[in-house]
Amino acid sequence: MRQTRSFHIGNLPIGGGAPVTVQSMTNTDSRDAAATIQQIRDLAAAGCDIVRLSVYDEACLDALPAIIDASPVPLVADIHYRADLAVGAIERGIAKVRINPGNIGSQAEVKMVADCAKMHHVPIRIGVNSGSIEKDILARDGGVTPQGMVDSALSHARLLEKEGFTDIVLSLKASSVPLTVAAYRLAAEKTDYPLHVGVTEAGLPGTGNIKSAIGIGSLLLDGIGDTIRVSLTGSPIPEAAAAIDILKAVGLRNSFVNVVSCPTCGRTGIDVAAIAKRVETELADIRVPMTVAVMGCVVNGPGEAREADIGLAGGGLSSAGGAAGGEGSQYAVGAIFEKGKKPQKVEGDLAAILIERARLLAKEKEALHE
Ligand code: SF4
Repeated sequence: MRQTRSFHIGNLPIGGGAPVTVQSMTNTDSRDAAATIQQIRDLAAAGCDIVRLSVYDEACLDALPAIIDASPVPLVADIHYRADLAVGAIERGIAKVRINPGNIGSQAEVKMVADCAKMHHVPIRIGVNSGSIEKDILARDGGVTPQGMVDSALSHARLLEKEGFTDIVLSLKASSVPLTVAAYRLAAEKTDYPLHVGVTEAGLPGTGNIKSAIGIGSLLLDGIGDTIRVSLTGSPIPEAAAAIDILKAVGLRNSFVNVVSCPTCGRTGIDVAAIAKRVETELADIRVPMTVAVMGCVVNGPGEAREADIGLAGGGLSSAGGAAGGEGSQYAVGAIFEKGKKPQKVEGDLAAILIERARLLAKEKEALHE
């Protein structure tokens, strides 16, 4: 993992090997405290460690104290062009400010923001987008380049450094995945500031998830990235789950149940999709690193299921028929495989059986670590 400077966003450490955090941004009107508080709570419940909100006028500032008071997570004020709003947000208790110092006017205004942030121990994120590169850099490079994005970010950072302020997080987002990845890789070589990683304007859920997973995931696998945001059009709530899935996929969030399931084929004897979905949903509250497998048959299933902590290999629908209800409930036969134990034939509501056994195993694992 890349070594970076470290400091805190509210009570959360960033950089210096601290766990990678998940953030998102509200899309409620920030002047509407009640609606914004509700969305922040929903985002926190979905797994966000940090939430950003736009602060674009005095009415937003007026709403901030109530929002900050009610928020279960540290908040970031997203501010454009106005030093007075940055100072106002910091004085009202915001945990971090996102502002580009090169866009807020004179160096005296930069100093005002830097001094205030320093006094309140509030870090500043400089957020460069491929669309916001300065004209002279674009002219020099003949368009947007990774080098131009890094130069732009560092030129903003220098304005803060001049005032002795270095609690800086950088982001260098583009909607192009290769450009985003190249820009962050270059930034990681050139600076030791923590990096907020994301692909901007990634689009709708679906393609947006794929772009984000490739962009953010590639960087995290290189050890680059201290906090991440998945940007999806629409409600921000799915952004949290998408970000957590990326962290899990690259092995940076392990205290969850990882459900593996086979793709199904002509041999499939049980409703793998429905069972896997039910298992994933019903075990979502478990905070123990554990792999649970749902495999469709007894041919390849047992081998795969044995790789997991616990697994189910389906046999087929039970001739006994039976009482099952709800999605993922199916009266069937199969075998449960558990590490270090003999496979055991089971019959009935296979999803329910697997969920119950997995919960028992999670308790045993938890007890072992206590
Ligand atoms: S585990 Fe069995 S059912 Fe699933 S894809 Fe493999 S062979 Fe097919």
